[in-house]
Amino acid sequence: MAGNRRTSRTSRHAARGLSTRAIHAGEDRSRYADSITTPIVQTSTYAFKDTAEIAAYTRGGKERFEYGRYGNPTELVAARRLAALEGAEDCVVFSSGMSAVTTTILAMVRAGDHIVITDDAYKKTLEFCSSYLQRFGVGCDIIPFGDYDALDAAVRAETAFIFSESPTNPYLNIFDLEKLRAIAERHGVRTVIDGTFATPINQRPLEWGVDLVIHSGTKYLGGHNDILAGAVLGRRELIDPIRALHKAIGGVIDPHCCYLLLRGMKTLALRVARQNSTAQRVAEFLADHPRVKRVYYPGLPDHPHHGIAARQMSGFGGVVTFDVKGRLADVKRFLDALELCYIAPSLGGVETLITHPASVSYYNQTRKRRYELGITDTLIRLAVGIEEPDDIIADLDQALRKSAPRRR
Ligand SMILES: *Cc1c(COP(=O)(O)O)cnc(C)c1O
Repeated sequence: MAGNRRTSRTSRHAARGLSTRAIHAGEDRSRYADSITTPIVQTSTYAFKDTAEIAAYTRGGKERFEYGRYGNPTELVAARRLAALEGAEDCVVFSSGMSAVTTTILAMVRAGDHIVITDDAYKKTLEFCSSYLQRFGVGCDIIPFGDYDALDAAVRAETAFIFSESPTNPYLNIFDLEKLRAIAERHGVRTVIDGTFATPINQRPLEWGVDLVIHSGTKYLGGHNDILAGAVLGRRELIDPIRALHKAIGGVIDPHCCYLLLRGMKTLALRVARQNSTAQRVAEFLADHPRVKRVYYPGLPDHPHHGIAARQMSGFGGVVTFDVKGRLADVKRFLDALELCYIAPSLGGVETLITHPASVSYYNQTRKRRYELGITDTLIRLAVGIEEPDDIIADLDQALRKSAPRRR
């Protein structure tokens, strides 16, 4: 399909606010059967009227769909809408965030290349870069997040790109995108930011000179803990080879899932605004709580990157990480005492979810290694939903009180 068709419907909305784009961008003004919603085109293939139409298509003139792995009308609307939100020229939607990450990375490297990634990137992304890529002769340097000198020093002639996240998991570290841009420009390397935790509502890295932005649509974009999805966004010349590889690797999102993604995005701005304000309140509540040792939230002035976050983000996000006083047994009693918050991985949905990184993502590491990675036994990551903030706070409070360390 000709590229300009992808974004022609987004340009109309480019001057409009993010809430408006989240609802309208990417859609044709009139739709099948005059439906207000974008239809789910549940098909795996598309029929040609006759051989003349095949000829018109293959000679590149006619814009139409051919086969499900190469595109679908519902998916096209989702891609355009995301591009409009992120301020990107082009977008590819994937079946999961990891499909977006791995396809993007594979499209950007050749044997002999090297990449640089920061150490608190998403665990599966780090694993892919540090172990799987090696099999194909791609080197990888993992540098400590926030050490810009180390980052600068790690870039070599063979470096294809710098990959990082902002905010990161679980400490919500914020990458200084001005510094990233300066380093990338000095070396002439590309940059990729996984912006899942921020969404385009809170942070728009392309405006800071980042080349590609990745999202796990499973989190805030879908927003209802009911789908897996992913996306990569950027300039068309960078997206084209990723789209080409995507067609071969085949991590395509199905049309029904795209519908749910579109539906979720309609309320993205509302949900994120609510999650920002709830998280701020919860963070302040926890910071004052006698059972809490330390709170990590970029909206709190004592967060190491509060200043950077305030400069380059328009909201501090819906995730709050904190360290509970006591020992592992007390943390377990805290988790087991929760009545509203669910103990579950993931974030960004309408339900408040809580995770205990030491026993989930890092369970197979030794305690010593976990502590080296900064994952203490008492660390908790809370991803607020859109419930009544007072109810979330009350649930945390009762569970914290019930799990006060017993006299030993
Ligand atoms: C969840 C997540 C991913 C992976 O996304 P999936 O949709 O689960 O494949 C990648 N990066 C970040 C920051 C995430 O939170």
